[in-house]
Amino acid sequence: MPLIPKSHPRAKSLLIREKLVKGFDNGLVAKEGLLAQGRGEAFDYLLGEKTTKSAKKAIRAAAAQILLAERPVISINGNIAALCPKEIVKLSKQTKAKLEVNLFYANKNRKQAIIKILKKSGAKVVLGSNISTSTKLPRIDSARRVVDKNGIFVADVVVVPLEDGDRTIALRKAGKTVITFDLNPLSRTSQTANITIVDNVTRAIDLLIYDSKKLSKKNHSSLRKIVDDFDNKKNLSENILEIRKNLTRGAKIA
Ligand code: ATP
Ligand code: MG
Repeated sequence: MPLIPKSHPRAKSLLIREKLVKGFDNGLVAKEGLLAQGRGEAFDYLLGEKTTKSAKKAIRAAAAQILLAERPVISINGNIAALCPKEIVKLSKQTKAKLEVNLFYANKNRKQAIIKILKKSGAKVVLGSNISTSTKLPRIDSARRVVDKNGIFVADVVVVPLEDGDRTIALRKAGKTVITFDLNPLSRTSQTANITIVDNVTRAIDLLIYDSKKLSKKNHSSLRKIVDDFDNKKNLSENILEIRKNLTRGAKIA
């Protein structure tokens, strides 16, 4: 890994990028995953590379929604496995959500590499590689329609970090409540999900773990109220306005 000086104004962003590159070299991340990271970085820049107030609200609603779920599942792709495997395993333990590997660009070796890193990070069971329990989601034509009968197929709430729009739409059509992390508040995924956390997953994941722990002490109706009070469209608008504010400020300096 090239040395990134701590004093670099964008050191954190560069470190995240290096994690992805390392993940690519180790067979976890697809080439397309690197491009997705690039798109995310651009939006992160516009958001000021910080967790907005609106993102914090979405994180709280997401924590409540996962805790309310009967069969929550966290869907894992290569980027997530490269960026925050330990945190994802921690979240799954904290919320009793199952882990399922689900790849847009399906590849057996990559899937195995992802399962290996999740197990190394403490996961006991990772779904997604057992052909005898695999089935298909309707109305979706990529390899991602293949899901586990005991995982996403029967899940009521699915957490899909950095997801593609087509699949998010298919999950919604299949009756799932979808929670996503997506730095682009304009993407189809952001617009289709029930709860969109517009933040870098590497920043937001710790906050989600923290809120899940904190809210686990609350009763069902308090959690329900947090979810019901959350308006995803409004939250996305707030994030878009945050970007506009940052751009306006930038235009004044230039
Ligand atoms: P859509 O298909 O939903 O319209 P898209 O085609 O623009 O989106 P994809 O490549 O399908 O983008 O999905 C990747 C998404 O993940 C992008 O919106 C990107 O902004 C987001 N993203 C990438 N890296 C991160 C990250 N570290 N944290 C949060 N979001 C990220
Ligand atoms: Mg897409």
